[in-house]
Amino acid sequence: MKLATIRHDGLQCAAIVDPDAKRVWPLPGHSMIDVIGAERVPPPDGARIPLAEVSLLAPIPRPARNIFCVGKNYRDHAAEMGAGDALPEVPILFSKVPQTVIADGDPICIPHGLSEAIDYEAELAVVIGREGRGIAKADAYDHVFGYTILNDVTARDLQRRHSQWLIGKSLDGFCPLGPWIVTADELDPATIGLRLWVNDELRQDASTADLIFDIPTIIATISAGITLYPGDIIATGTPAGVGAGFKPPRFLKAGDRVTIEIDGIGRLSNPVR
Ligand code: MN
Repeated sequence: MKLATIRHDGLQCAAIVDPDAKRVWPLPGHSMIDVIGAERVPPPDGARIPLAEVSLLAPIPRPARNIFCVGKNYRDHAAEMGAGDALPEVPILFSKVPQTVIADGDPICIPHGLSEAIDYEAELAVVIGREGRGIAKADAYDHVFGYTILNDVTARDLQRRHSQWLIGKSLDGFCPLGPWIVTADELDPATIGLRLWVNDELRQDASTADLIFDIPTIIATISAGITLYPGDIIATGTPAGVGAGFKPPRFLKAGDRVTIEIDGIGRLSNPVR
């Protein structure tokens, strides 16, 4: 099932997206967090509405806490970022503040005067469905509600200058998320393709089979000492092909459009201003 957060007639709620993604079926009075926490998806109310007639928000428009992110989690990306043959031995974890989240179609804004080195990162995002601490790898998927697409937008100069990655990863609007969540029963996340285009140019093209640390390992690592809650989001890392990997670097500029496609989920596309 595809689940979105929509705004229609001034009301915001979760909605079921038809399999062909042409219409939505609102769940009035229910937020996405309500739906994630419920035993089953509440019954829809009223008629299906053409998708084009509603505003699509990010599926979780304002996460309750920071988005967990894994750095350098694909071999070829670790190499292009200068790691050489030294792959991480344990997952590199950082976070993005909740206010970074924007929807499909919202603009990524270049913060002129602060950074011009704005980069993109196509990532599969995991949405947690069941609370847990000390989750074993074998049980990890029992805690997953579903999957969505995340663009881990990054100011490379700020990321490097401040040692910790928080500032470079958390500028306003630096987390396009969506367009919807695909529930875990519909997707095997272990071997799915993800691609990213800047305008018409394919920049990233990989499979989650190439992850250094797979989803169960990531969930086990985070939850060892940090309780995971329904609605938490984990970005699993990006493959090779980011702008910083080119010589010279090819960062985003106003007028560009960044589009990410993940098999079984859909497309997340954002203009750059
Ligand atoms: Mn990333």
